[in-house]
Amino acid sequence: MTPPGSILIVGASAAGLSTAEALRRHGYEGRLTLLDAEPHLPYDRPPLSKQVLAGLWEPAKARLRSPAQLEALGARFVRGDRAVALDAGTRSATTASGRVLSADAVVIATGLTSRRLPGQDGLAGVHTLRGLDDALTLRTHLAGARRLVVVGEGVLGAEIAATARGLGLDVTLAGLGHTLLGDQVGDVIGALLGRLHTARGVRLRLGAAVESLSGENGRVTGVRLATGDPLPADAVVVAVGSRPATGWLAGSGLTLGDGVECDTRCRAAEGVYAVGDVAAFEHEGLGRRLRLENRTNATEQAQVVAANLLGADRPYTPIPYFWTDQYDVKLQMHGLPAPDAELSVTEGDPEQGRFAAVYREGGEITGVLGWNMPKQARVLRQRSLGAWQRSQPLSSA
Ligand SMILES: Cc1cc2nc3c(=O)[nH]c(=O)nc-3n(C[C@H](O)[C@H](O)[C@H](O)COP(=O)(O)OP(=O)(O)OC[C@H]3O[C@@H](n4cnc5c(N)ncnc54)[C@H](O)[C@@H]3O)c2cc1C
Repeated sequence: MTPPGSILIVGASAAGLSTAEALRRHGYEGRLTLLDAEPHLPYDRPPLSKQVLAGLWEPAKARLRSPAQLEALGARFVRGDRAVALDAGTRSATTASGRVLSADAVVIATGLTSRRLPGQDGLAGVHTLRGLDDALTLRTHLAGARRLVVVGEGVLGAEIAATARGLGLDVTLAGLGHTLLGDQVGDVIGALLGRLHTARGVRLRLGAAVESLSGENGRVTGVRLATGDPLPADAVVVAVGSRPATGWLAGSGLTLGDGVECDTRCRAAEGVYAVGDVAAFEHEGLGRRLRLENRTNATEQAQVVAANLLGADRPYTPIPYFWTDQYDVKLQMHGLPAPDAELSVTEGDPEQGRFAAVYREGGEITGVLGWNMPKQARVLRQRSLGAWQRSQPLSSA
């Protein structure tokens, strides 16, 4: 196959930029354009809820690449302009400012949009955290705030609660689920995380629906639970999940479900690929469609998309993986265990704050967890979940 003469990448963050870099590494010499709605140089998101929010890192430290490295890519970067439409047939995107960008191939890497609560807009002091500007606004607000309520018991909510406690705020975390991160790590580890947060002074209101946000004179004053209990606050963070940023693809001709639906090669249509948080791909090893919201996936999937753009025929068959840092705990999760999978500790001791564990369903291992034991978890992962990778395509050079 002749490589496309030009490639347009929409979304120039972890997944989009990695795709561009992998293309050049594989010797691609054609025209590359990266379009992003944000004005900033590409930056990494994991530090936003941790080091950047804590004030330990200035924004420049979260940059994915230096200006010189970006320059060396030999690509055209169009920043601060949002794609508002795509014609998948002609592979041309229209932007908010009226630009029309056409190419022989298009890569969709637009990530996620945060979900919001009704009444959130127009109430000062209520935040979501997805981008750098969100993190800086929240950081400034927390510097002058005393009481924070975090709504959402997932990874992001738990990380923000941990960081805010580190800043000395009075923190309450409310969420519908009965344990922290229960959907992803199961109830046993979720309960352990809950104890960690409680020991550090976070008040948990789990299994509690948030009925409404309360406000006075346009400023948030707290949150009301469905039980009727008020949770007073001068800052509220809404971390109730995200949805794939596919609004701009309505009418594009692509199939949109929970993300941009693609095949096992991450191909959404002739000459159109999706990568990163927005991509809902068929996992050949697992025999089902997956969409992964984690940093490692953004880089790994980009390697496969780049290779396939250049004529390879490679399935993407990752072992799903994410990490999270909360207080002094570094947690790594490999695989996709069901919340009620049976958990057994294989090494270390939860009481000592270091252990590795496996999740079993019907006798089969479906997940591996490391709690301050990253190396041991990696070894277990390869031993127990390696078969998922089947024909793992590429080294991530
Ligand atoms: C606060 C935070 C903390 C995180 N912590 C962790 C962690 O500890 N561990 C972990 O594994 N993962 C973590 N993640 C997840 C990880 O950062 C994401 O999985 C990763 O950023 C996905 O990369 P992406 O390029 O697919 O999407 P994104 O990084 O979201 O990038 C999408 C890009 O597309 C642009 N865009 C969107 N719509 C348009 C449009 N219409 N036109 C043009 N451009 C558009 C956006 O501006 C953005 O730059 C975290 C995420 C957040 C937000």
